[in-house]
Amino acid sequence: MADKLNTLTLAQMRDGLKAKKFSAVELAKTHLAEIERTNSHYNAFITITGDKALEMAKNSDAKLAKNEGGMIEGVPVGVKDLFCTKDVLTTAASHILDGFKPQYESTITKNIWDQGGVMLGKLNLDEFAMGSGNLTSYYGKVINPWKKKGSDAKLVPGGSSGGSAAAVAANLAPIALGTDTGGSIRQPASFCGIVGIKPTYGRCSRWGTIAFASSLDQAGPITRDVRDSAIMLSVMAGYDVKDSTSVNMPVPDFESLLSNDVKGKKVGIPKEYRPDGIDEDVSKTWDNGIRLLKEAGAEIIDITLPHTKYALATYYIVAPAECSSNLARYDGVRFGLRVGGDKSLAEMYEQTRAAGFGAEVKRRIMIGTYVLSAGYYDAYYKKAQRIRWLIAEDFRKAFEKVDIILTPTAPSAAFGFDYKPSNPVEMYLNDVFTVPTSLAGLPAISIPAGLNRDGLPLGLQIIGKAFDEQTVLNTAYFMESVLEFNARPQGVAA
Ligand code: GLN
Repeated sequence: MADKLNTLTLAQMRDGLKAKKFSAVELAKTHLAEIERTNSHYNAFITITGDKALEMAKNSDAKLAKNEGGMIEGVPVGVKDLFCTKDVLTTAASHILDGFKPQYESTITKNIWDQGGVMLGKLNLDEFAMGSGNLTSYYGKVINPWKKKGSDAKLVPGGSSGGSAAAVAANLAPIALGTDTGGSIRQPASFCGIVGIKPTYGRCSRWGTIAFASSLDQAGPITRDVRDSAIMLSVMAGYDVKDSTSVNMPVPDFESLLSNDVKGKKVGIPKEYRPDGIDEDVSKTWDNGIRLLKEAGAEIIDITLPHTKYALATYYIVAPAECSSNLARYDGVRFGLRVGGDKSLAEMYEQTRAAGFGAEVKRRIMIGTYVLSAGYYDAYYKKAQRIRWLIAEDFRKAFEKVDIILTPTAPSAAFGFDYKPSNPVEMYLNDVFTVPTSLAGLPAISIPAGLNRDGLPLGLQIIGKAFDEQTVLNTAYFMESVLEFNARPQGVAA
């Protein structure tokens, strides 16, 4: 069994640890060995915290020996390198955070360590979580463990939580943390054939998570199956006095409430998510999902979300606006990189920011600064805020009629590693199905739902009412049981 330990789900690991079938140290060692063997290929981890993992695992074993410990005692976890981890290099995949070791722990990671998680290391991402392919990291691109049938070409794992998704799909970690501002948990989960849930805005604390767009950012887990997402969400979520946008309401034990009974559930199918020219396999996968729900007694209801067509444009005003403000703090004074320290203050700021940020981050800072500037604020930012409200209203109205909404997660499967969009908007189109939910602050999960003609995974997205993650998880749990998606990526040969 030992050589297969890293293919178990979180729930299987948790139960095996409790039953003393294997130890936390054994689990940590198995994962570290696999990381050692294949990380140079995938480039999923920026930092590997081997010593820390073994020390934490030892502590877990001591607790498990006394039949004590938290909800995930002894289970290894990979952390997107956007969460501040005390005394451990935290980069946001940006040159500007060179050498930054936070003096504090993010609330999300603290919650995980408090429940017995064992830290394997920090995972690669698009710089400051801006991207859809993990192509903008200062630490290099990440490789998707999946390949097209009969082809050896490298593919992207999606973004921005690309390292997290690749690590879980490649058996380097059973679970990984992601963040989702416009799709960064769901789209990489879809590209890598695994599960990822973005909870309702306010469900998880953002404290100590490096901010991209504060009114959109939410943390969530990337896992192998729906049960593991349910477990992790209960571990991560909760009110935090340090984040005024975290919501003070009880966190359910999502796992114990899992049910795959969808009989009588009203499932909305938004017509705007089937544009002309939609990829045929994406459309077929969606139809198959609809059929399975119908056969199990769910009621399928056609709905309309009329402002969907404005969602991308709205997102790409709101998110850059917030990022331009959030990223103003990186100026060479307090964190990371400093260039031109012997020059005037203004020159030092300029040189540090010029050298520290990559092209995509700079583009967004410039767009954001532009839309917030006095002459353009009303024309762009204020208008975008109004449309954001209309998008949220679309969902509110739809949820008067339905319990859940089913859509594809992304318009395509994973694309090529060497893909160069002819302009940035082409890349932004990847987010077309995930961004509306983010603007509305609603919970949504992506589950693997089939393979396309090239043998690559495609995800389906299930969107729920605010704070109704349970219905999202339950519908996903049902879909998982009937879809029986058990294809595995080719990975790196043993
Ligand atoms: N791809 C989107 C963007 O580039 C979403 C990123 C995210 O969710 N962090 O902004």
